Amino acid sequence: MSADIDCLVIGAGVIGLAIARALARAGREVVVVERERAVGQGVSSRNSEVIHAGIYYAPGSLKAQLCVEGRQQLYRFCADHHVPHARCGKIIVAASADQRDTLLAIAARAHANGATDVREIGRDEMKAMEPEIEGVMGLASPSTGIVDTHALMLALEGDAAMHGASTAFATPFLSAARTGEYLRVRLGGDEACDISVNTCVLAAGLASPRLAHTIDGIPRDSIPVPHFAKGNYFTLGRRSPFSRLIYPAPEPGGLGTHLTIDLGGRARFGPDVEWLDTQDDLAIDYAVDPARADKFYRAIRRYWPGLRDGELLPDYSGVRPKIVPQGTAEADFMIQGQDVHGVRGLVALYGIESPGLTSALAIAARVADLVAAEANV
Ligand SMILES: Cc1cc2nc3c(=O)[nH]c(=O)nc-3n(C[C@H](O)[C@H](O)[C@H](O)COP(=O)(O)OP(=O)(O)OC[C@H]3O[C@@H](n4cnc5c(N)ncnc54)[C@H](O)[C@@H]3O)c2cc1C
Repeated sequence: MSADIDCLVIGAGVIGLAIARALARAGREVVVVERERAVGQGVSSRNSEVIHAGIYYAPGSLKAQLCVEGRQQLYRFCADHHVPHARCGKIIVAASADQRDTLLAIAARAHANGATDVREIGRDEMKAMEPEIEGVMGLASPSTGIVDTHALMLALEGDAAMHGASTAFATPFLSAARTGEYLRVRLGGDEACDISVNTCVLAAGLASPRLAHTIDGIPRDSIPVPHFAKGNYFTLGRRSPFSRLIYPAPEPGGLGTHLTIDLGGRARFGPDVEWLDTQDDLAIDYAVDPARADKFYRAIRRYWPGLRDGELLPDYSGVRPKIVPQGTAEADFMIQGQDVHGVRGLVALYGIESPGLTSALAIAARVADLVAAEANV
């Protein structure tokens, strides 16, 4: 007797879809189950849509490796699959002389990570590139870009489908347990059922830790405690005066209140960092409090004094799936196979915050390798 489904992927965000594609291209039979009625209704549609160069992350970390690998793969994928994107570049600004050392340390880290085109620029060169910026010096990152995230997810889903994968919407994963040869998985929705699978990949974003607790046999201490850090965005009520992304020196928990542009030339600022009290992903309030604008004006005017009163409008928010609490060192991406949690056939992903979008294809390749290696044991 064989399993009902070979590989089940939980979550149709950018990570689950990229994994489904990688597994399907490796010749596996794949079904993605998604709680919502469309792809990308979670973190993947509430982010900055930046293709990161790989600048900030600890050298040797998964974030550093997978961001640099993933960025190269993503540019290639977007070109091959006609996904709208632009290699617009980015400038990180030192607003005052005391931030210069921070930026030089960031440049050294970028080079150690393989983002070797990041370079220091003086005030005059920076002004020539972006006349409205104020600062003492900056770092230019020509490999940073932007991507239409929704188009990317549709292209990933389409390519996965071309290789035989399918997606079941309005089909929440409820629980799983190992029974002999297979994992027995309970699915909800209109056609609730129990199915047997060879391999299950948990890629449910903010919900991953909560869902892991429903899987029999995972040691509870291998499941990270979720901590949520909301990021609020404000949009600019006129066309962007910048053609590149503009970042200040980073702040704890995030990259500072930066300016990103979308492919239509619209400018938005954020995300800021607002730690939430709840650890329940189903109880998140995504509304943006207009009163937060005061802090945005102060932060933005440090590098763009030309921002006028009344120009910032509340926009959307997203929530970072953190796995360490406020005030502690940044955690790395967590990709756990049987060697960590002991459940044969299960790969669980946690803490896939930024640069998860950039890293999606490289994360998917890692997971596909892990699945293949475990199948051969
Ligand atoms: C504010 C912010 C800004 C960011 N900016 C960037 C950026 O500029 N560049 C970058 O590289 N990265 C960025 N990121 C990170 C990036 O957005 C994420 O790493 C990525 O989107 C995570 O994708 P995911 O598929 O893991 O999660 P999600 O997109 O949340 O997908 C998980 C899916 O699982 C589904 N699900 C949940 N429960 C169940 C269930 N029981 N059964 C079935 N399905 C379920 C959800 O509905 C969801 O669709 C940012 C993140 C945030 C929060």
